[in-house]
Amino acid sequence: MSRSYFASRMEGLKPSAIRKFFDIVATMKDVISLGIGEPDFDTPQPIVQAGVRSLLEGQTHYTSNVGILELRQALSAHLERLYGVSYDPAEMVITVGGSEALYLAATAFVNPGDEVIIPTPCFVSYQAQVHMAGGVPVEVPCRMENNFEVDPRDVAAAITPRTKAILLGYPSNPTGAVARLETLLEIASLAEKHDLLVFSDEIYDRLVYGVNHVCFPSLPGMWKRTVLLGGFSKDYAMTGWRIGYAAAPANLIQGMLRIHQYTVMCASTTAQVAGIEAILHGEDYVQQMVAEYDRRRRLIVDGLNHIGLPTFEPRGAFYAFPQVSHTGLDDETFASRLLQEEQVAAIPGSGFGAGGAGHLRCSYATAYEKIEEALRRIERFVNRL
Ligand code: PMP
Repeated sequence: MSRSYFASRMEGLKPSAIRKFFDIVATMKDVISLGIGEPDFDTPQPIVQAGVRSLLEGQTHYTSNVGILELRQALSAHLERLYGVSYDPAEMVITVGGSEALYLAATAFVNPGDEVIIPTPCFVSYQAQVHMAGGVPVEVPCRMENNFEVDPRDVAAAITPRTKAILLGYPSNPTGAVARLETLLEIASLAEKHDLLVFSDEIYDRLVYGVNHVCFPSLPGMWKRTVLLGGFSKDYAMTGWRIGYAAAPANLIQGMLRIHQYTVMCASTTAQVAGIEAILHGEDYVQQMVAEYDRRRRLIVDGLNHIGLPTFEPRGAFYAFPQVSHTGLDDETFASRLLQEEQVAAIPGSGFGAGGAGHLRCSYATAYEKIEEALRRIERFVNRL
């Protein structure tokens, strides 16, 4: 049997570095995990209840392909209120997580051979999704001296006649970086000059600390060339519900919708009803979670710097991204020894693309006391090196 049954797009589709790491963690005891990429909070009760109620009331059927109108209307008003950006409900599709929204963008717009510029380190799905669409992910490594914000000059240097889109993810997983307005304006002018699409993954938009989130399509001239990818997983602690959305001008969203129609039909009805409650009445919960993340953020950033692992101040999401390379260990060795010797799990930065080498991703979506204990263990480990 010499025949390979796999499609050629599977070549080069590597298993996620994060999964590999968790397989090891699952076999160990007394591990403090800073590896988690999701809120440790449960979904706020009123949101859960809205979902449960909808089931009891018999909302157990498909919704329209694009998603429940009331949810799209609520989202439309929400984006207008927060960022002054206007989408008609017809310019939105409710998806199975931000993940599906990203899949739709990659599949609808990326031709075989098209290049998509991706600042890294980034969410592990970005390169994979572009790759699965037959495109070529072109990594632009970000640097710690720029607080892991992409340098527009690096983006400019990466643009070729084959470039189709730039894929941005701010606030960033895994670095916690937030892009400043001036940086995004420079990216915008590159997109304009070279007639590129921008896929803007803003799933962590509400999780910012002392800075404002800039919604990319709100920038001058950008609405018409941006596909906004959003979600509920992080802001409302709804990872398990599998709901998100994409918003884009009608001509773009119509193409994405066709793929959505033929792949998933519609997002979960229960999750959509819960999503309405989240958008309309979830604000206090968002604020409470952000306040708690912020408290932990200060603890972990101060703690890591104090231990001697230089960590820039992340302004978004729930990750700190300490540098470990100066200890003499590369990030993979550091992470696996830290896990084996002190039972602290943190993800090697190189798993998130070229720009992540030499760093660790430490999630602070875990209890304050656990972070305190993790810091004590990391300090012990570093002192031994
Ligand atoms: N984008 C980023 C940057 C993420 O970190 C994640 C989840 N880890 C997603 C998108 C996808 O989230 P979901 O599918 O749960 O909405």
